[in-house]
Amino acid sequence: MPLNMIISTPWNSFPPLKPKNQRPVFAGQINGTSGYEEAGPRALAGINAACSVQKRPPFVLDRSQAYMGVMVDDLVTRGTNEPYRMFTSRAEYRLLLREDNADLRLSRIGNELGLVDDETLNFCEDIQKQTQREIHRIKTLVVKPTEAVNAFLLERGTTPITNGVKLEQLLKRAELDYASLQALFPPPDPVPPRAQEQAEIEITYEGYIRRQQNEIKKYKDLERIRIPEHFDYTAAPGLSNELKEKLRQILPTSLGQASRIDGMTPAAISVLMVAVSAFQNRSQT
Ligand SMILES: Cc1cc2nc3c(=O)[nH]c(=O)nc-3n(C[C@H](O)[C@H](O)[C@H](O)COP(=O)(O)OP(=O)(O)OC[C@H]3O[C@@H](n4cnc5c(N)ncnc54)[C@H](O)[C@@H]3O)c2cc1C
Repeated sequence: MPLNMIISTPWNSFPPLKPKNQRPVFAGQINGTSGYEEAGPRALAGINAACSVQKRPPFVLDRSQAYMGVMVDDLVTRGTNEPYRMFTSRAEYRLLLREDNADLRLSRIGNELGLVDDETLNFCEDIQKQTQREIHRIKTLVVKPTEAVNAFLLERGTTPITNGVKLEQLLKRAELDYASLQALFPPPDPVPPRAQEQAEIEITYEGYIRRQQNEIKKYKDLERIRIPEHFDYTAAPGLSNELKEKLRQILPTSLGQASRIDGMTPAAISVLMVAVSAFQNRSQT
């Protein structure tokens, strides 16, 4: 089987986790700890406790989905000798893991788990739809070089235009923002403030966001290649004894996770990829 076909069963192909009774369950500092690094992941622990009892695959948030995914991966893969602090700088995809889009990013997953109600999910999906509609408007609306437009641009300290330009190009200028452009070029229907904010962020930082999305795609490709539970690292020729020892201790579940272990080089990952592939082939014959 080709390596990129070794994909684990997606957790969301199962029906939502539904409590058998309606007794409240708690996560967070009400359980007796303090600090958000402790409070947040208790929810993750609770979800996985339920998955385990119900014999479902574990629920894993990855590094591109949430800070909790970054934190769990850091602790499991890299370890720490000191109390862990969840700095934003630890998250390589932090341009996408923003506080302003946390609910938009995670509500669907929460709803599939049975932890976010339909009303909240519908609200988030509606905001996303309105954001896309507004982005489309801003990317297609052509602004003509009228006197009023150029007077506005000069007043904002930015170069006047001589030809028609897309509204998008004006929004990308450092001197301009959504609020002032919206006053001059209002949308046909009112746009909720959340969708305005998302549209502005997505257009202003489009290039950086796209680059990060491409990086996430590459990251997910490696993450999808699973390392079998009983993989024998001693039989991976070309790996140093130090790396074999680290791999045996951490037992990464994917090549992606293995790639983040301290000391792991691109060459070592290639060796591991070949060894995992050979192991899979042997197991199937
Ligand atoms: C000023 C300050 C600085 C902090 N700095 C740090 C820090 O640097 N690092 C760190 O790790 N931690 C820090 N903390 C602690 C951290 O913020 C908390 O430990 C963490 O937010 C707890 O999360 P939680 O989800 O358990 O509770 P909360 O975030 O308190 O969430 C509980 C929620 O339940 C809601 N609620 C309460 N009663 C009801 C009810 N009857 N019905 C429905 N909803 C209800 C509340 O409105 C609230 O939204 C700080 C706290 C403060 C106040």
